[in-house]
Amino acid sequence: MATINDNYLKLPGSYLFAEIGRRVAAYQQEHPEADIIRLGIGDVTRPLPKACIEAMQQAVAEMGQAETFRGYGPEQGYDFLTRAILAANYEPYGLKFGTDEIFVSDGSKSDCGNIQEIFGRDCRVAITDPVYPVYLDTNVMAGRTGALQQDGHFAGVTYLPCTAENNFAPELPAEHVDMIYLCCPNNPTGTTLSREELHKWVDYARQEDAVILFDAAYAAYITEEDVPRTIYEIPGAAEVAIEFRSFSKTAGFTGTRCGYTIIPKGVTGRAADGSRVPYNRLWNRRHTTKFNGTAYIVQRGAAAIYTEEGRAQVRETIGYYMENARLIREGLAAAGLTAYGGVNAPYIWLKTPDKLSSWDFFDKLLQQLNIVGTPGAGFGPCGEGYFRLTAFGDRENTLRAVERIKKMG
Ligand code: PLP
Repeated sequence: MATINDNYLKLPGSYLFAEIGRRVAAYQQEHPEADIIRLGIGDVTRPLPKACIEAMQQAVAEMGQAETFRGYGPEQGYDFLTRAILAANYEPYGLKFGTDEIFVSDGSKSDCGNIQEIFGRDCRVAITDPVYPVYLDTNVMAGRTGALQQDGHFAGVTYLPCTAENNFAPELPAEHVDMIYLCCPNNPTGTTLSREELHKWVDYARQEDAVILFDAAYAAYITEEDVPRTIYEIPGAAEVAIEFRSFSKTAGFTGTRCGYTIIPKGVTGRAADGSRVPYNRLWNRRHTTKFNGTAYIVQRGAAAIYTEEGRAQVRETIGYYMENARLIREGLAAAGLTAYGGVNAPYIWLKTPDKLSSWDFFDKLLQQLNIVGTPGAGFGPCGEGYFRLTAFGDRENTLRAVERIKKMG
């Protein structure tokens, strides 16, 4: 008899965006004239940089000629891309990785979701709350947790609350943990961890023989000096940290798909026989077995962000979103609302006024201002009482939304 992976049944339905869609549709049906502005999306809206388009067009032409046609490429990514990534994002910080310590993929959701496969089933997972849901859900699917409890937490997981009270910087866990997911800059809070905070985590991981799974999907949005651009800027991190990066929010690749993961060979875990095994070896085995490489055309497009024109175009797009973020932050402040984030990330995390629940605030914003955002409770129990707005909209809609918010008062 074929059985199922019962762990999947522990997961609640993907309630958040379905419920948002349901409420917006119901409101629109009753108010067909309503001019609804969406500031809830986590997807980009600006087109791909011209440099990427040109590089991809050229790659398409190469694919049409027998002499330059490419079939299967290296599963780990073409050298032209891995070398460009290392030269742009790591070497300027004095960080030297081999091209065999970097794995190009079809985006970082797959990587942060799949990485847990190379860890033992009995590893204890620590996760920030609120959190990008992929880390937790994939560990639930793998059977690394117990059941969902009344308080919204899964049994067997160490949650690290991130709220205004601790400045969105999680405390070290009271118990031993083995896998620590950190997302910096953070989705959904839009906040970051300072060098000192990250130091604390690297030291903890070294002391506890744990591994930090560091999601830096929004690294390109960092503006403040004190925020490390990569976890490997922290001494000792190359022995305890795996870093995930994405071209999605950096360069508009959400629909084009490209990301990468750095697994330094010094990051090791214990095998059943007591020996130390590099996670790099296991991930290489997994990647070459289950993945057949990111499209050549896409990798050419991705590499183009490191050219002079590409860099300038990416800077311009990120500047556009971050100007939206500034407008939203200032609009919220003018309306007397307390907001966090939006300085090193395209997310603004606001405290709901008058102790409204995050869903009640969602309804208020939808009904009174015709603005759609994302209730914080959808990202974890500690997101209750908060609300996420994103800076990924177009300027005109962002400005119109801000005008409405200012009048809310
Ligand atoms: N990590 C975080 C924190 C994200 O917010 C997202 C996308 O929203 C991803 C990873 C996934 O990015 P990708 O498009 O590369 O799969």
